[in-house]
Amino acid sequence: MIQALRGTRDILPEEVGYWQLIEATVKEILGRAVYQEIRAPIFEQTDLFERGIGEATDVVGKEMYTFKDRGDRSLTLRPEGTAGVVRAYISNKLHAQGGVQRLWYTGPMFRYERPQAGRQRQFHQVGLELLGSDAPRADVEVIALATDILQTLGLKNLELDINSVGDNSDRANYREALVSYFEPYKDDLDRDSQARLTGNPLRILDSKDPQTQKIAQNAPKIIEHLSTESKKHFDTVLQLLTDLNIKYQINHCLVRGLDYYTHTAFEIKSDDLGAQATVCGGGRYDGLVGELGGPQTQAVGWAIGMERLVLLLQKLRSNPVNNPDLYIVSRGEVAEAQSLILAQKLRSAGLSVELDLSGSGLGKQFKRADRSGAVACLVLGDAEAENQTVNLKWLASGEQQAIAQADLLAMSRELESKETFGQKASLTDLLKTKIAKLKD
Ligand code: ATP
Ligand code: MG
Repeated sequence: MIQALRGTRDILPEEVGYWQLIEATVKEILGRAVYQEIRAPIFEQTDLFERGIGEATDVVGKEMYTFKDRGDRSLTLRPEGTAGVVRAYISNKLHAQGGVQRLWYTGPMFRYERPQAGRQRQFHQVGLELLGSDAPRADVEVIALATDILQTLGLKNLELDINSVGDNSDRANYREALVSYFEPYKDDLDRDSQARLTGNPLRILDSKDPQTQKIAQNAPKIIEHLSTESKKHFDTVLQLLTDLNIKYQINHCLVRGLDYYTHTAFEIKSDDLGAQATVCGGGRYDGLVGELGGPQTQAVGWAIGMERLVLLLQKLRSNPVNNPDLYIVSRGEVAEAQSLILAQKLRSAGLSVELDLSGSGLGKQFKRADRSGAVACLVLGDAEAENQTVNLKWLASGEQQAIAQADLLAMSRELESKETFGQKASLTDLLKTKIAKLKD
């Protein structure tokens, strides 16, 4: 038997409600802030990620799915979303429209990692990018939207870690201070960090090795090496967060150790998850668009890991399910044929309708109707089919009433025309009231 690949998972119906809830929430919240969805390809030239993420990172160094296609080109399955979105922004000249571009995306990402809870080889992110603004308000807008999404989904124990990595010249100063600090500890650092001492000492700060972390605790802090202007940007960001009542803590070890990451870096964690606690990571990347061949463009963005978010939601609530409004049972040749026609008409009038296809006895069909979660069951036998009526049974009370199919359809259509987004749940309630009136 063929097995799914290691580090991949099937998202089955019993879980997919969480995914749909996240997607709907993201769409709603980002829609209100006028972000537009962008869909970029899942594979790109390898070079894009090497330049866009940086050769010195774990992602590029050891996690990419890179292969030659039949034309001998080196291609890579996207390990993250930003590089592709920025490439699309440049190749489609979105910058020529002037002003800011607010974009969001969602989809699968690929990294060759050791699979564990909340860490897979094919995983999913939802992310956003705000391109064309250097305002501290832009940084805070994107952070606020991330917290909105997570809080709307019901997460409570959120922690926002934030830092500034300054600009190129701030980092040049800081690098020197950092090297002189770490130099005496060189032999005690983990191997990767020893190598970074000459290349990219900032990244020693986010080493996951406990001993290195301990040494890094007392390292000089980057915010003490920021220019007046960079410091002002950071202070404004913090002030705006406070104004919005968003709690944060400054984490001096939080860095995005690449030349084109600038100023704000942040992560949102949840302590409900244990080891893999980071659900959202982001920051400002004023140098990236230029680095990838576009015009100098300031930008800021984040990505949320959806698997980790689903794990959190599973602790908080049951799988959101889509129960049908109505369940149709039928018995007899004419009635069965009519049941399909009625189901289709009710569906096009906006109701969700599950049709029992079994042809089994009514008793068995009623049992399935009960399990379906529908509000009401429509019963079609020979007599009903003949009279173009239906026997409507409210599943909660067991109460039944006969109703003309035409009346049921007319009411459903009328209700549908009044339906507005988000009121779907009350549709059947409205129908209930209407049908009750009919009886009087
Ligand atoms: P980590 O330190 O956990 O490896 P990262 O710094 O590599 O995270 P980012 O590149 O910032 O992660 O990606 C943003 C988010 O995507 C992470 O916070 C996490 O929620 C999620 N994520 C990253 N890698 C994976 C993976 N292999 N499987 C599932 N989710 C992931
Ligand atoms: Mg990682």
